[in-house]
Amino acid sequence: MHEGYRGRFAPSPTGPLHFGSLVSALASWLDARAHGGTWLVRVEDIDGPRTVPGAAEDILATLECFGLQADEPPEWQSRRIDLYRAALDQLIAASHVYPCGCTRKEIADSLLHAHRRNTTLIYPGTCRGGLHGKPARAWRLRVPDDDPQADDNPALIRFDDRWQGPQQQDLATEVGDFVLLRADGQWAYQLAVVVDDAAQNITHVVRGADLLDSTARQIWLQQCLGAPTPAYLHVPVVTNEEGEKLSKQTGALALDTTRPLEALLAAARHLGLDLRGPTPATLEAFQTGAIDAWKRRLLRLPATA
Ligand code: GLU
Repeated sequence: MHEGYRGRFAPSPTGPLHFGSLVSALASWLDARAHGGTWLVRVEDIDGPRTVPGAAEDILATLECFGLQADEPPEWQSRRIDLYRAALDQLIAASHVYPCGCTRKEIADSLLHAHRRNTTLIYPGTCRGGLHGKPARAWRLRVPDDDPQADDNPALIRFDDRWQGPQQQDLATEVGDFVLLRADGQWAYQLAVVVDDAAQNITHVVRGADLLDSTARQIWLQQCLGAPTPAYLHVPVVTNEEGEKLSKQTGALALDTTRPLEALLAAARHLGLDLRGPTPATLEAFQTGAIDAWKRRLLRLPATA
């Protein structure tokens, strides 16, 4: 048991729930149940252009059909804009953020001979010292300057992932000052997720490993806002035969809601859970077996019991 445990599943309604998102939903639900905690669902419909009408309702109905019941009514990010605005105002007052007038092309041009991380451009900090007459397009969060000689390099964010083990990322050399309010007026995922996890008193974040790379940014933002850092657990992502993460873009199929048990058993297998005994025939039997298996797999240390 964990007094005060609060976990969440935070789907983006860009399409129906698919197998990859079921794995994340199941893992976060199991962790909450194994801790005797509270499990929430938060619809991350903040990215207007990517949100598909009806997808959120469809995801919520599918979760219900799969026996993944939230303990409180779902929250919707689109109804929480005032919180994001207040957080940005707090960051402006503390000079943690600055307006940026650069276009993507200008950033790309200035980086022609500099480092690139995957396809993400590392912002060189052009507008840190002022807009130089350009109109403000976006708001960026200042990351700490790199000090590789220091015993405690302020740009290096470390955390222990409960599944993936010790992690670290240098925000200055690997990420750069990142956007919180985009040029198109949309709130960035990083800001919304940190504000909501704090406002909803989330103690444990369980999600797909594709978000491992965002975690250091979120920890830094929590520190800037004076918010606590939850425990993190990132489960392996489900990939298709080409090794791409399953998503609507890579052609993931919607789940068959008439056969929830089959998909849940496959999701438990993906998580490496050993259900022991005969294959469960009902959702209830699956849940009992899977919670026990999760406890054996992830809560085996006496300290976390
Ligand atoms: N909405 C994000 C996604 O579906 C997940 C956010 C999170 O769990 O932190 O990819």
